Amino acid sequence: MGLLYVVGLGPGKIEGMTLEAKQALDATSVICGYTVYVDLLRETYPDKEYLTTPMRREVERCHMALEAAASGATVAMVCSGDAGIYGMSGLIYELSADYPEVEIVVVPGITAAISGAAVLGAPLMNDFCVISLSDLMTPWDVIEQRLHGAGAGDFPVALYNPMSHKRVDHLAKACDILLQYRSPDAVCGWVKNIGRDQQASALLTLAELRDATVDMFTTVFIGNSQTRDLRGHMVTGRGYCPK
Ligand code: SAH
Repeated sequence: MGLLYVVGLGPGKIEGMTLEAKQALDATSVICGYTVYVDLLRETYPDKEYLTTPMRREVERCHMALEAAASGATVAMVCSGDAGIYGMSGLIYELSADYPEVEIVVVPGITAAISGAAVLGAPLMNDFCVISLSDLMTPWDVIEQRLHGAGAGDFPVALYNPMSHKRVDHLAKACDILLQYRSPDAVCGWVKNIGRDQQASALLTLAELRDATVDMFTTVFIGNSQTRDLRGHMVTGRGYCPK
């Protein structure tokens, strides 16, 4: 009987991990994950066995983890942030039918929307949306529909995968949709490399964000009608304190 933990590591540094995630890693002999995240762990856990695959080899990576657990090891499949948000826990369950002997335990982590929000101030605060601009798994017209939904519902939005070398215009297109519902002066922000050495962030207007260049290590925040710039921080009112 093997045990497979699916562990969200939080945004970056060991300090951003939950105690439960750390305890799960302490208990495993094999750590499996995307090369970049696993490299963050090697220093802290030099004696573990590591199984890695590069990006876009997710199915192979999950099979590797399930195989290792099926052979009796205690294994951790690690993901950045939370494993259930654009992570591997869903795929692990989808593939697990072939491994009935493996027990699966999901350990939550702090997702980029939450760790990034803390850097900017309090941009989410009330109801909010999380939307990925990557069309690798989701067709672009579905993403556009969801952006319209977020705009119509006046939700503050956290955008994951905002831009990559192949998707240079996705952020501008997303802003154009939200500009149909929001003022060009709506308060927005981005945070790059949250919880890592090169962390950087900025506040800007929706009109400025439309023409900004960010990268795939960045999470973007678009404020709603209740979001203000307070002392250089992005704060969405919850209604306690009328404007
Ligand atoms: N499971 C992860 C998300 C993976 S999708 C989580 O819960 O956070 C990858 C996207 O997440 C990136 O393109 C970026 O938008 C965001 N992201 C993940 N880690 C980040 C970090 N440390 N700093 C900034 N953005 C991050």
